[in-house]
Amino acid sequence: MILTYKLKHNKDFSDELRKAKQVAEFGVKNRTLSSKDVKHFGLKSAISNQILRKYVKNKKVKSVRSVQLTVPNQSIKVDKKNRKITIPCLKLVLNYQFPDFEEINQIEIGKEYACISVTIPGGNEYEPEHWIGVDRNTTGHVVVAGEPDSGKVIKLGKHAQHTHTKYKNIRKRLQKRGKHKKVKQIKNRESRIVRDLNHKMSRKIVDTAKSNNSGIKLENLKGIRKNRKHAKSFKYSLNSWSFYQLQTMIEYKAKLLGVPISYIDPAYTSQKCSRCGHIGDRNGKQFECPACGHVDHADVNAAFNIALSPYMSQSSAESDVLEGSTDTPEVAMA
Ligand SMILES: [Zn+2]
Repeated sequence: MILTYKLKHNKDFSDELRKAKQVAEFGVKNRTLSSKDVKHFGLKSAISNQILRKYVKNKKVKSVRSVQLTVPNQSIKVDKKNRKITIPCLKLVLNYQFPDFEEINQIEIGKEYACISVTIPGGNEYEPEHWIGVDRNTTGHVVVAGEPDSGKVIKLGKHAQHTHTKYKNIRKRLQKRGKHKKVKQIKNRESRIVRDLNHKMSRKIVDTAKSNNSGIKLENLKGIRKNRKHAKSFKYSLNSWSFYQLQTMIEYKAKLLGVPISYIDPAYTSQKCSRCGHIGDRNGKQFECPACGHVDHADVNAAFNIALSPYMSQSSAESDVLEGSTDTPEVAMA
């Protein structure tokens, strides 16, 4: 699995970044891939090479905006024992705290941040004894995770809906008064809060799974998105991006710890009885099965159903959103 970590580098690279832009512009204009042709700009050839490859090979690039300094693997030295990354040609030393990795693929350096793309060992997955089903909640919490074998249930994110409503109202008021910049600020603030919450919730779910030798089953949201009927229902329209973010965080944390993940078909997970499989009745927070008489919290019932569902795939078709993304939340350790 490839992940990108973002670190503040605390160095002024404006001179190099300006040269990098010139190199990219020259490359695009003259269609050259040879760093010799751009030597006169004074950028290190290892970096020029990467920039030329990136911009010239991509035929879609018409104009060059902000160019980052792309440092290839061969120009990076790693001291894993002291958690130090050195880029000699830029005289840059970065201290890192993120978990162990196999190797660094490349580092992209911008004005403030260095984005470090690493390969991490995805594996040493254990054989799960149980499965935890993770359901997106409908009645208060963000998420309910349930493990049917033990009957253990965790409910997380109680205040999320409240926070969301609060910020939505603030935004509405500001919008009316035409304060668009403020609206954006509030929006950013809310997504930081949601992101933080998602980190805590995913941590809790993955740690619980690991300590009980369980795997985690998630709903395949890709199917849901395509399904109009689902998409329109309250359950799936509410903050669907943030739930998707939660899933990707669960997947990523699980992979690091070897916790097996699988995706299931979300059809009927909220209507079926988790005891006998018959379609039951939902009344607000309560689920009742007319066939076997089972009564449960509706979201707990759904979480159990997810845990009991046969799985479709080992990874979400969209899970690559996290991979290689430069704003991976987990990893923004400044
Ligand atoms: Zn039943």
